Amino acid sequence: MITGRIKQIETMGLSDGPGIRVVIFMQGCPLRCIYCHNPEMWGYDGGEGYTPNQLLDIIMKYKNYFGEDGGVTFSGGEPLSQPEFLLECLKLCKKEGIHTCLDTSGVGNNLFNKDVLDYVDLVIFDIKALTNNTYKEITAIPIDMSEEVLKTCQSLNKKLWIRSVIVPGVNDNDEYIERLASFIRPLKNVEKVELLPYHRMGITKYEKLKLEYKIRDIKDMDVNICNVLQNKLNKLLKI
Ligand code: SF4
Repeated sequence: MITGRIKQIETMGLSDGPGIRVVIFMQGCPLRCIYCHNPEMWGYDGGEGYTPNQLLDIIMKYKNYFGEDGGVTFSGGEPLSQPEFLLECLKLCKKEGIHTCLDTSGVGNNLFNKDVLDYVDLVIFDIKALTNNTYKEITAIPIDMSEEVLKTCQSLNKKLWIRSVIVPGVNDNDEYIERLASFIRPLKNVEKVELLPYHRMGITKYEKLKLEYKIRDIKDMDVNICNVLQNKLNKLLKI
């Protein structure tokens, strides 16, 4: 029996996909982003173990609230990094006619990515960086896997919401926004693009876990400046 590790279940989520959603925060993530505010979710030994059917039982309790738009969102951590469990959960949800959303940075297992995406209605895709060098500076891995998953989303015509975290001194500039617009423009099925302001709320967790917080000197991203960049991006993308 496959089991997955789940850190947290949010039952009335309103921001990770359309409508009212059950959001499943899956334990484990290989990316190690320098700005991650959930380092306690990196390892695969935290959280609680669930079988796909146990998880479905919980999701089904809230199905009446989903209405026409809502459903379930698998987030994390990096949900693609527990691919077999994720696939079984998605199959069960689709059998029940539940809208499925995957909130991912695109780092999983190439053997499963296409099968998983076949059962996903909407992908919330987190762009960490646009070049391999910067990607490796922000995460602990190269950009390739993430690029492959985005390509697969495109070949399967998946609906996309794009997200990117804006960090002062790293990418809070017009050049990044213009490059991001050029990257997004040719993509099909993009329904929404969101810039998320970096914040330092996770810093105390690093201290507790005795982990190094690599960008200790960088302050929170000014929300107003982030809004200006968002407006510029919207204009460039004509959305
Ligand atoms: S992808 Fe998300 S959970 Fe994983 S390290 Fe980056 S910010 Fe943290």
